[in-house]
Amino acid sequence: MSVNRMDFRDDLNTASDYLRMAVPQMVRRRIPPTPYNYALWYAHVQNAYPDLSRSLLAEFPENGPYDPEKSESLFFEYFVKHYLPTSPQARDLIADIVTRLTQAVSRNLRGTQNYGASLREAMTVFGESVIDPERIRTMVGQLLTETRDLESLTQAFQSELESAGAQVERLTRELEESERRARLDALTKIPNRRGFDEALAQSLSGGDDEPTCLMLMDLDHFKRLNDTYGHPMGDRVLEIVGTVLAKLQSDHVFVARYGGEEFAVIVHDELEAAQMLAEQIRRQVAALQIRRKSTQDTIGAITVSIGLTRFRPGETAASLIERADTGLYRAKEGGRDRVVIA
Ligand code: GH3
Ligand code: MG
Ligand code: MG
Repeated sequence: MSVNRMDFRDDLNTASDYLRMAVPQMVRRRIPPTPYNYALWYAHVQNAYPDLSRSLLAEFPENGPYDPEKSESLFFEYFVKHYLPTSPQARDLIADIVTRLTQAVSRNLRGTQNYGASLREAMTVFGESVIDPERIRTMVGQLLTETRDLESLTQAFQSELESAGAQVERLTRELEESERRARLDALTKIPNRRGFDEALAQSLSGGDDEPTCLMLMDLDHFKRLNDTYGHPMGDRVLEIVGTVLAKLQSDHVFVARYGGEEFAVIVHDELEAAQMLAEQIRRQVAALQIRRKSTQDTIGAITVSIGLTRFRPGETAASLIERADTGLYRAKEGGRDRVVIA
């Protein structure tokens, strides 16, 4: 289906022209001017959505019967779907649930209306002065049948609701899961840059009562490591460093892969505490003994350089990051494998 988001931005004159064109077409087909129908036929006479026009004319030929379920389906297909989430599966699923529920509701409503009509008919029979027992028997029999019909309709409605409920629940879980995945780095399984940006924004919006520090950390001579041991070994080192950092993740510490061979750590604590943590990370990484799978030799020590800084109330995330980056640059300049506070 290739219709884009429906657009109705016509001025009064144009919209009135469309009204004059749409209504006679609806009248000829005896289509009630409900909001759904009017939107459909309005879009049709606009002549901008060939798919919609084709479906509409096929579903509602002149002198054909009017089926409200068909116009509801078309309405959901062409209007509702385009305002739903952008994931095609999620969109189709939601549109499907809404269509099915709407249809189930209108079926149930019609069933109840029929039942009401039978009851009213029975009331007139019972209200007659001379009551024919045969008519009563027929009437009660008819009421019983209608009651059973209504019961099974209600049951069908109930199970429709339950299955839609289960589908909505599944969809919600899938959406949550994909939202979560979108913030995780696939290689190291710790938050990615997107997760970091959100966490930092949140940290800085929390008021100035709690101290916040930021560490930017970059693996030293990583290009050389890739060149010497190969890219897959480089990936493994990143994964292992990610695991070291993941163990620090807590209410006070947020770790993320900032990009490439760079990591970021947000520490909700004073500078001295953050510095101790930075030194701990530096030592822990340097002490890693990583073996090559092929030869079982350990590769040379992996070291990291870290720039550390404390958030200054009122400043932006960008200026905080820039300062941490300055610290990192100085750590590299000063010979790597060190922590520099900026
Ligand atoms: P420095 O000590 O100055 O940081 O030197 P460096 O070699 O680490 O820095 P440089 O920025 O020159 O190189 C970074 C390297 O990290 C280059 C790039 O190929 C590698 N790298 C980035 N992301 C990945 C990754 O996901 N996997 C692997 N294996 N390598 C990566
Ligand atoms: Mg780098
Ligand atoms: Mg590097």
